[in-house]
Order: sequence, then structure tokens, then C-alpha cells
Amino acid sequence: MKKETGHTRFGSVLVIPGEDECRFPFCTSLLIDDDVRVLVDPGAGLSTLVSLQKKAPVDLVINTHYHFDHIAYNYLFDRARILLNEQEARCFREKKYLASLLGMEEVYGPEWVEGWIARIADTETRQSPFSPQNRHEWWLSASRVDEEYRWGDVLDFGKTKMQVIGAPGHSKGFSCLNFPDLGVMYVADIDLSSFGPWYAGSDGDIDLFLSSCEAVRAVDCDHFITGHERGVLNRKDFLDGLDRFIAVIDERDRKILSVLQKPLSLTEIAERGLIYGRKYHVDAWIYMWEFIMIRKHVQRMVGQGRILDLGDQLIAA
Ligand SMILES: [Zn+2]
Repeated sequence: MKKETGHTRFGSVLVIPGEDECRFPFCTSLLIDDDVRVLVDPGAGLSTLVSLQKKAPVDLVINTHYHFDHIAYNYLFDRARILLNEQEARCFREKKYLASLLGMEEVYGPEWVEGWIARIADTETRQSPFSPQNRHEWWLSASRVDEEYRWGDVLDFGKTKMQVIGAPGHSKGFSCLNFPDLGVMYVADIDLSSFGPWYAGSDGDIDLFLSSCEAVRAVDCDHFITGHERGVLNRKDFLDGLDRFIAVIDERDRKILSVLQKPLSLTEIAERGLIYGRKYHVDAWIYMWEFIMIRKHVQRMVGQGRILDLGDQLIAA
């Protein structure tokens, strides 16, 4: 690992921190400066990526998954080939499919999805207060995919080899990118943020998220690069942080059980704002994330016998 002008470099892999201390909706990008010049997850920010593009052209853009913060500036690289995992590639061909994975169809229905597509197509659309719901970059950047990669693939860029590790749970096709010869892995949204694991799309899954964390833990590398906030971590700091990160799932379970001492419907639980806080529900996407997260916890605890399903209502067992 080398530090130069504020950037960390592992061999040909340069870590590009996102703007606003890499908080959502910005993310850490990687530049692989090799025979093939590759940009991973162009979400670091407009000015950062415009200046990067001016220095030398990028041949390939690789997205670890289809979420806004990891694809926002794909559109700047109009001469690059765009790669997304095979399970999510359809998102870049069909906005309705993207909307169904994100949860809009589940929570608000197909007409709402049509309205969303019209909003992101319009450069003048009023923005949502707390989420990138209406950002026009959705329209620009989720519109083209040239190749699909698969879990287990090893991509060769010259001197640099990159292995794709499937890590579903955060999203359906979520992928971590391991550089075995450099001892470093990009773990994107297994990001150790204080918020905790995010599985609020219709395609998210708590148990898969947990098993993916174990798969990542088992990879023999010295450093991990997170997609948000924490940045580059050595193995010990990453593994310590991973335990605290995972523990947030149990805390969410406990909060839900504490309000289910009396019977409530799924909607009534979501309206409590246990995960995001009620004041953020004015943004339709934040409420959508709250509802889907609550649904997943509740269904999982019903399966574990910790919550009883009374039909329209639920109660702690
Ligand atoms: Zn994500």
C-alpha cells in the first residue's frame, strides 16, 4: 500500500475517495491504471470524475451493483464499455425492472413506477429531500450495459487480475472485487457504516447479507476498501468493524420486538420509524426503505418463531 497526494494506491489500483467524506450518495471509486484503464463504481462525485476523465480515457466502467451511488456518473464515460453483473444487467435495459428490484413496485405499485420513470427523464424534476429518488443521473447512467460479468470470473487488465466474489444480500447481484496479487478487496456496501447493513430493496435479503459477510471474512487479504465513510482498512480493523456492523441486525430485531408487545400491522410498525426515523418518511423512498426493511425483519422472525402472525397483525411470541 502506498500513499500519494492523499490517495492510497495498491499496485495499479488507485483508491478515489468520494466527496462529502464518502457519505451516501457518494462512494469510493477505484481506478485501475493498467493496459486496460478501468473505473470501478463511478460515484465519487462529478468534479472528481470529470478531472479524472480529462487526464486519460477510461476503457471500462465496472459497476459492483445497480444502486444509484455506485453508478451515478457512468454517463460521463460515454466511450467506455460498461459492465454490470449478469443478475442485474437487465436493470440497465429496462427501468421497470430496476424499479421492481428497488422496491417501488412492491410498496407503491406499477402506476407510481410510471410516474418515477417520467420524473427521472425530466431534468427539471423537483428533488426529494433525503434520497436520490428523482435524480436525472438515473436516466443517464442506468441506460446502457455492454457486457455482463459473472461471480467467480477473473478479469485481466494487463498486470492486474481482479476476481469477482458474489456477495448477495445488499442487492441481488452484489459483487465484491478481489485483487489477489495485491492483497486487497473492494467490498463496496459491506461498508461498516454506523447505519448498519442495508437490504431495503425488494431484492435484499438479511440471511444472504450475513452469509456474504462470512464469505468476505474468509478471503485472505490484508486490506479492505469500503464503498462509504471508512475507506481503506487493515484486516484487523475491518474484521472488528464487521462484527459491530452485523450486530446492528440484532438491534433492529430487538427494536421491532419491543413495539410488538401489543399487536400491530406491518404498516403500523413501519410508521414508527424504528430504522430511519419518522421525520424522514416525507421522502417516499425513505418510507419505502423503512417498510421493506421492517417486512424482512418481521418475516424472518416469524420464521424463527419469535413473532406470531395473527393475519392482519403481528405480535411478539
Ligand atoms: Zn448499494
